[in-house]
Amino acid sequence: MQKHADFAEFTELVPTAAIRTERHGWRAKCLQRLIRLDLPVPQTVALPTETVRAIAAGQMPDTAGIAAIFGPDFLVSVRSSPEKPEWGGPGTVLNVGMNDAVHAQLIESHGKEAADALYLRFVQIYAVNVARLDPDMFHDDPGPKALETALALYRAETDEPFPQSPARQLAEVLRSMARAWEGTTARLLRQAKGAPAEAPLGLVIQRMALGIGPGLSGSGEIQFVDSVTGLPRITGRFRGQSQGRKASEETLYLVHDPRGASLEEADPALFARLVEYGARCREHLREEMQIEFTIESGAPMLIDAVRVRRSGRAAVRIAVTLAEEGIISREDALLRVEPRALTELLHYQVDPRGAQDLLARGIAASPGAATGRIVFTASDAQASAARDEPCILVRRETVPEDVRGMHAAVAVLTERGGMTSHAAVIARGLGLPCIVGCADLAVNPRDRTVTAPDGRIFREGDVFTVDGTNGTVLAGAAEMLEPALDDGFRTLLRWADNVRDIGIRANADTPDDARTARMFEAEGIGLARTEHMFFDDDRLTLMREMIFADTPNDRRIALERLLPMQRADFTALFEIMAGLPVCIRLFDPPLHEFLPHDREGMRELAEALDRPLSEVTRRCEALREFNPMLGMRGVRLGVTVPEIYDMQARAIFEAAVEAGRRGAPIVPEVMIPLVSAAREVEIVKTRIDAVASAVRTEMKAEFTWRLGVMVETPRAALRAGEIAHHAHFLSFGTNDLTQMTYGLSRDDAGRFMSTYVKQGVYAEDPFHILDVEGVGELLLIGASRGRAARRDVTISVCGEHGGNPESIAFCRAAGFDYVSCSPFRVPVARLAAAHFAI
Ligand code: PEP
Ligand code: MG
Repeated sequence: MQKHADFAEFTELVPTAAIRTERHGWRAKCLQRLIRLDLPVPQTVALPTETVRAIAAGQMPDTAGIAAIFGPDFLVSVRSSPEKPEWGGPGTVLNVGMNDAVHAQLIESHGKEAADALYLRFVQIYAVNVARLDPDMFHDDPGPKALETALALYRAETDEPFPQSPARQLAEVLRSMARAWEGTTARLLRQAKGAPAEAPLGLVIQRMALGIGPGLSGSGEIQFVDSVTGLPRITGRFRGQSQGRKASEETLYLVHDPRGASLEEADPALFARLVEYGARCREHLREEMQIEFTIESGAPMLIDAVRVRRSGRAAVRIAVTLAEEGIISREDALLRVEPRALTELLHYQVDPRGAQDLLARGIAASPGAATGRIVFTASDAQASAARDEPCILVRRETVPEDVRGMHAAVAVLTERGGMTSHAAVIARGLGLPCIVGCADLAVNPRDRTVTAPDGRIFREGDVFTVDGTNGTVLAGAAEMLEPALDDGFRTLLRWADNVRDIGIRANADTPDDARTARMFEAEGIGLARTEHMFFDDDRLTLMREMIFADTPNDRRIALERLLPMQRADFTALFEIMAGLPVCIRLFDPPLHEFLPHDREGMRELAEALDRPLSEVTRRCEALREFNPMLGMRGVRLGVTVPEIYDMQARAIFEAAVEAGRRGAPIVPEVMIPLVSAAREVEIVKTRIDAVASAVRTEMKAEFTWRLGVMVETPRAALRAGEIAHHAHFLSFGTNDLTQMTYGLSRDDAGRFMSTYVKQGVYAEDPFHILDVEGVGELLLIGASRGRAARRDVTISVCGEHGGNPESIAFCRAAGFDYVSCSPFRVPVARLAAAHFAI
């Protein structure tokens, strides 16, 4: 004999009942609140999670108690009620209790056709979900014999007639739903939505509101805001003579609509009641709800209410409006918007409602969407831009020479690379949609073709849409939604600034970046990478002359010509940032990155420098390194060829004096990259101090400056104490630090990263999500040793992780002063930081 589940525990949803979300689930709680608001909700009973679990474990539910509430011949629906709506749960079962006797009554009251349709639907759902019969056996065709056929099939397959006892039907439905929740697929699905594997399920049993009958009867949904924009707008449908979401031939629009009849016109008074119910829900549930309702002979019943589904932009608009109307607090408004959802507002976005021809998926490296003709070289991208034709730069991977082409393109697509590959970093900086590591596409730059996995071949000039928000490449043009940097967005972020307690700066190299940083209200520039400033055509030639200089004097002459250009760069940044801190990182990359890589390029260079091709080739060869990322770059170059840093320091100081004279005084921050020993800092500092003194004398001006060190080698983290003696600030370059801690090339990791993540070797791509266990420990060690040596040292992160909510949480907990991230990630960072502070 099976034990009975303890049904003494179930509770009718009356206003005073003790219903808790953790025990009865969100739906039970929500329905009880509607009842408390005196809204017309059909009689409802909630089963707590422990009862549902006991049923799943094999205990037979005792339905006598339920029958005592609903009467012996009950007709009810059963809905799932987990703790959070997004955790899903088994689908609703309607009309439990339907049998021959109820069917006969319904024929009397509502006619044979309607009665047959309800019974047929229940027999089918019961047969498939409870008796586990093959769904293909049943047809949805409501022919005159359909009900008879379904009942006969049921008997043939199960060797018993369709159960007539409402209590037995209910017990079986409850058991099938309780068991479905424990199944492996359901577990995986809810885990993917953030639910614990062992999350329990509550159930609600509700008296059926039939939705059929004489006069205006049917079912529908209504919501009061637009799901895409979040602005007030009544949307939904009403389906006459129908239950649940079943299609109906008598569908009405809700409000007046030129396309057809509406509920508003059919029964204005009833419509006004629904609107009033909606307003009551919104105010008391403190949320925009979608209400599911049934109308039986002109009388509305509310059978369910769920949070309105919403896009990122709608989430912002709804949260701000609710807070401005005093319905929720500002803090609640902040918490109701997922920081990452903000990226959607900053860029064009593929309209999810439009048609899409999906070609391939890659790594979503920089958000936003754009449509353009595909081109395969930087110069073709520039030519295309000159013709005002939007283009998408398609490369196997990008190199610094492609930056010009990236500037000219509306999006970038590469076959190789990961989250911190060259293309990804530059594109994020430029706010350009970008997909990298799109290995499904075969890019053939020589033929100028792209082959898609389905065999289609695309040629230069064909139109693609790149959706860098979700990593999808589409053939042809897609419908777009515009960015939404409106009042709501600004208001929400201002509220975020009022509560957050960690600074947010931007990584910005160009005036455009700096303007974006200002637009998103970054508190300064945390990293200006200066090397990108040398890829302009004129400067590249000068740079190459400097590299090829035979004597220090020749080098000095080339650098002297670069000086005013750099000074202009810094002046522009200082002007745009108007007194906010600007941290300029001295030159970092290996020199060979500025040299041509192919024969044609070398020939052009020989011509430009007026040197023999053989010499140019030899010198280029000599500068080539086996592992350039671990070679002559960063401070190593600064120590070996100090004139470059001298020139940059001079340009910074002269620009700072200039900024002061124009009324926006600035304390420039000068940062040294790739340090691994304190002595490197000492050497560079001594020279920069000398430059500062010279500039003070020459310009007859006083200024101060701050020296910083990038902590991006493991040794620098370990020796941070000693280094901090020479530095005002330490900024963790977590891109290089991750690369060096793992011994993993950031440009090549894309080849195996997905395999590593799939097999669980790494939980996440560490270039994307900060590895708090390994790299994070180095951050903690570096920060504590730095602070112990120098209490007022400023500590920050300026690697790509700086814009990641998880990394921000880590940096905040570790007491960092600020994080610096790509300008387009600043809004996400501001909101995420606020979430952690609330
Ligand atoms: C870093 O290494 O984290 C960093 C910010 O520098 P870059 O990405 O320019 O090497
Ligand atoms: Mg670095």
